[in-house]
Parts: sequence; C-alpha cells; structure tokens
Amino acid sequence: MAISADILCGLSDTHVIEISPGQRVHRQSVSAFTAMQQAAQAAGHHLQIASGFRDYHRQAAIWQRKTDALGAMPADTALHEILRWSAMPGASRHHWGTDMDIYDPDALGADKLQLEPWEYANDGPFGPLTQWLQAHAGKFGFYWPYARDLGGVNCEPWHLSYAPLSAGYQQALTPALLSRVWQAHPPAHLGWLSEHVESLFRRYVANVCPADSIEN
Ligand SMILES: [Zn+2]
Repeated sequence: MAISADILCGLSDTHVIEISPGQRVHRQSVSAFTAMQQAAQAAGHHLQIASGFRDYHRQAAIWQRKTDALGAMPADTALHEILRWSAMPGASRHHWGTDMDIYDPDALGADKLQLEPWEYANDGPFGPLTQWLQAHAGKFGFYWPYARDLGGVNCEPWHLSYAPLSAGYQQALTPALLSRVWQAHPPAHLGWLSEHVESLFRRYVANVCPADSIEN
C-alpha cells in the first residue's frame, strides 16, 4: 500500500501510538522496539525513548525558532548549519514514527540529557547501552541512519531507525512531495527551501547510512 504524503511529511498521526508517556512511535514498530527494550533490560540497560514521533508543525516551529535566531538576513551557510542538526519541516524521519532518539535514564542519574555524541561514546554515560545496541539492535531491525557524518546531517549516535518500515518511507519521500507540502503549509524561508529543494534533499534526506547491518 502506498504511504500517504500526510504520513510521510508529518501532517497525520494516525500511524503512531503512545509507547511510553509522551512518546509515540509507528504502531508497526512497537513489538520490535519492545522486544529490543526487554532484551536490553535483561542485559542491565534501561532503553528509553527521548523523542519519537514529531509532527510537521512541531518541526516547522523548531525551524522557525532556529532561523529567527540568525537575524533578518541569514546567509546560505547559516541555514545549512541549522540543517546539520535539524531536519527541514516535512523531511524529519521522526515524522514517520519509525525513528527515535534513545537513551538510558538510569545511566544519566541527575544530569540532564543533552543528546550530544560524547554521551554515547565508550566512556560516556550511554557507552554501555550503545555497545549493547551495536551488538544486538540489528537483530530487531534497528540501525543508525546517522552513524557517520556523510556531509549532511551530523553523526547522531542516539538516533535509531526501524529499517523494515523506514526503508519504504525513505523511498517514498521525494523533493516534489516536500515542495507540495511546503506550498500548503509554508515554513520560514519558503523561498530558499523551494529554490534549493533538490540539492537539500540529496544532502540532508537521501544522504544517510544504509541499513546494511540488519540481519533479518
Ligand atoms: Zn532523532
């Protein structure tokens, strides 16, 4: 069945359900995530979702806030710098419900979650969880689309993707579809986004690591 444009771009939430307080994921990823969570628990890791589904309007608000902070006339390079960390509205993998940012609340203690690479490094608070996931996540269908910096989105060791669903979503999303959604729900810097949609799509959407470590 074709995936609707509304679901691909975060304008619908009919495909997600709440998996933990305040966090929603794709209903067809719940059993795989829960199985992985239980296996992690048995190995002594408290795997939790820091951020699951996020809709278009939320992503548009993030984009608005970040671009506002640049002042009246943001340079091309400044907008690209934002896109290294934040997706364009409509192009976030979090819209799909197949992707989630994870952490271990027990390892965090009283500290605040930063979602920074050092926290997930071997000697960081989530080093043990990350090492466990590197050995086991693939068995449950999960991988890291931002495992390495490919010149688009920065390395994000907290961002997992459920390949059995997200591979199809990634295929279905196109620059033309994004442009249509932007026309209907104009984000900040609509002109700049529209003008560069093809190259932005290549650099920040299509340019992700493959799910080559998935075993099933
Ligand atoms: Zn993420």
